[in-house]
Amino acid sequence: MTASRRDLLAMAAAATAAGAAPAAAQPGPAPIFSLPATTIPIAGESGVFPVRRIYCIGRNYAAHAIERGSDPTREPPFFFQKPTDAIQNVAAGETADHPYPSLTQNYHHEVELVAALKSGGVDIPVERALDHVYGYALGLDMTRRDLQNAMSAQKKPWEIGKSFDHAAVIGPLHPVARIGHPRAGAISLAVNGTLRQNSDLSKMIWSVAEQIAKLSEAFELKAGDIIYSGTPENVGPVVRGDVLLCRLDGLPDLSIRIV
Ligand code: MN
Repeated sequence: MTASRRDLLAMAAAATAAGAAPAAAQPGPAPIFSLPATTIPIAGESGVFPVRRIYCIGRNYAAHAIERGSDPTREPPFFFQKPTDAIQNVAAGETADHPYPSLTQNYHHEVELVAALKSGGVDIPVERALDHVYGYALGLDMTRRDLQNAMSAQKKPWEIGKSFDHAAVIGPLHPVARIGHPRAGAISLAVNGTLRQNSDLSKMIWSVAEQIAKLSEAFELKAGDIIYSGTPENVGPVVRGDVLLCRLDGLPDLSIRIV
């Protein structure tokens, strides 16, 4: 083989490589470090549920709306978000240590049903909304109430009261395929064995389907979004050493110890 023929073959090989390059993996600029994904375990499954966004509805039980100073008959639903990495997973049968957060002297429990979406969209009609739900879990929307109230009084965003590390406590997800869509059933929370919150899912002002429909007017919902569906009345403070036991008909208990 002559030198010139070798050169031609080399050029042909280079051209082929260049031509093939777009089909090969193009990694693009590499992240300078990796971030852990936030996921929720699924009862009875080996796979986990990846979390995209955490939405929460405010004042969704009439008696709680009244105790928070609003009129439950006139207010449209309102929503806020927590950061995705605020998730604290708690396994069934475990009492997980939950750190008392900084800056607060009035740290409140809010027991809630959580819906997890497997798909989404915009302007989802109420009748189709539940088709997007993958499953449900029991959760706690932990709240620095003094910070929330102080910011609210100043007409400032009360994010600091709701959106902090570990503020979204959650048990394992239970697929709709196994438990259906809970529309009624006792939901309760006890602190050190004393019942504090005790209500029924049927007392929600806005159903999970209505929450999904309403949220999808404001945001494009997507797979991985979860929705804390509101807490019943008798929210209240916890201190270090307290053990919280949350119960919802048909799901395993959820328990944390404040440390
Ligand atoms: Mn809440």
